[in-house]
Amino acid sequence: MAPHAEQLTRPAVQLRGLTRSFDGHTVLDGIDLDLPAGQFTALLGHSGSGKSTLLRAVAGLDHEVAGSGQLTAPSRVSVVFQDSRLLPWQRVLDNVLLGLDGKEAERRGRAALAEVGLAGRERAWPNELSGGEAQRAALARSLVREPELLLADEPFGALDALTRIRMHTLLRELWERHRPSVLLVTHDVDEAIVLADRVLVLDEGRIGLDLTIDRPHPRSYRDPLLGEYRERL
Ligand code: ADP
Ligand code: MG
Repeated sequence: MAPHAEQLTRPAVQLRGLTRSFDGHTVLDGIDLDLPAGQFTALLGHSGSGKSTLLRAVAGLDHEVAGSGQLTAPSRVSVVFQDSRLLPWQRVLDNVLLGLDGKEAERRGRAALAEVGLAGRERAWPNELSGGEAQRAALARSLVREPELLLADEPFGALDALTRIRMHTLLRELWERHRPSVLLVTHDVDEAIVLADRVLVLDEGRIGLDLTIDRPHPRSYRDPLLGEYRERL
């Protein structure tokens, strides 16, 4: 039987009236948000606007927020942070496999490392990796879990500009190949426009702006289209 149309279009993430306060200070003020399955979305906002708070809520890492409204998210969620959070006492492959056992998992771990450009570094220690390589390993650790939803909180924020651009290409390629829903938190306007198909701006506890990046999509920092989108933000 053909699936019901509603099931086909059901969003991967659905938030209704999500609210979060700290010490009487409201950070999320009734957030309503749908993220369609497979969409690459960026979330912009000034420092302290609540981007990480929202991402933690969607990741299911915030128990306080749970009762405040409605939150629906897939069961397989991976999170990448600004620092790779690799365990320094585990080799790169063991970090990627953390919690997974068996030959098949190992095969997938090696494949994930190859996919992010770290073939041959399986037995390296985290402190032997550059910042960019550590983030590649963090992406491999996510990838191997085949997430339906990939949450990334300023994953390239600590990298130099050139490395960051290489990581943009990698993340976009991984997304095109595996098609998870992505929510990328960033404060870099150009990064948001170049990478995502939809850009949200968090402002005063609400989604203040919801911009679709149409085709042709600016794909590099030199694309003149970038300026046009920047002006709309
Ligand atoms: P962003 O990621 O956009 O920079 P955050 O979500 O980290 O912003 O923080 C939003 C606001 O919530 C800030 O004012 C911050 O101080 C506050 N906040 C975040 N987490 C906590 C916490 N665990 N305890 C108290 N205040 C917090
Ligand atoms: Mg943050």
